[in-house]
Amino acid sequence: MADVSHEIKTPLTGILGAVDMLEDGGASDAQRPLLSMISKESKRLNTLVQQILDLARLERESNALDPAETDLADLVRETVESLRPRAEAAGIDLSFAAPEAPCVATIDARLVSEAIANLVSNAIRHSGSPDVAVSVSATARGFAVVVEDHGIGIPPEHAERIFERFHRVDPARAAESGGAGLGLAIVRRIARLHGGDVWFSPVVPSGSRFTLVVKSARSAAPQNAPVRH
Ligand code: ADP
Repeated sequence: MADVSHEIKTPLTGILGAVDMLEDGGASDAQRPLLSMISKESKRLNTLVQQILDLARLERESNALDPAETDLADLVRETVESLRPRAEAAGIDLSFAAPEAPCVATIDARLVSEAIANLVSNAIRHSGSPDVAVSVSATARGFAVVVEDHGIGIPPEHAERIFERFHRVDPARAAESGGAGLGLAIVRRIARLHGGDVWFSPVVPSGSRFTLVVKSARSAAPQNAPVRH
């Protein structure tokens, strides 16, 4: 998968570059709608290829992580802020809450931020909720990040399957919003590499709650380490 994805990425980068140049001046008015379609679909393909590469890398596990001591509350706040313009553009009220005390954990900040961004952008893209609430708390199992919306929710028969690769509740709708169904598989992998997991629970009367728990990054097992008896 990773090899094929690499092979696809190179020509795709060329296409995106050429489209950019044409959009900057070389195209006639009649060509512009077609160009913007080529641009949108190429970016979508690029995201898909990137997600396949990410998942393949995370599944090789042992050297996938770059852990460091991080204040999870700060990290989540920054991630939420980076998505605020998208939420505002969609008319969604995005809120954030965290304890006063620092929530320090040894994590791969880039990956955990990617997992949280995935959950928040799912709530923005898929739920139709007027609000999305993100919170951080310390629990007995580790630090929990909760992303909650009051949108359409997820039917119970899909509740576990949404974490499988390429699974989408409504493929026709998801095709419109651009996802291939890899996001939650990546989120789960990242959570498990951090000694935690991610769960879905329904919100009553409607909506979705995703709880991501992380402890600390699983340290890479050294290859061929001597075994003590
Ligand atoms: P993608 O977003 O690329 O489609 P994901 O793996 O992130 O893939 O999500 C899988 C599916 O779960 C989505 O296609 C969507 O149907 C559903 N989903 C995820 N989050 C939500 C949400 N907050 N509200 C409603 N449906 C959701």
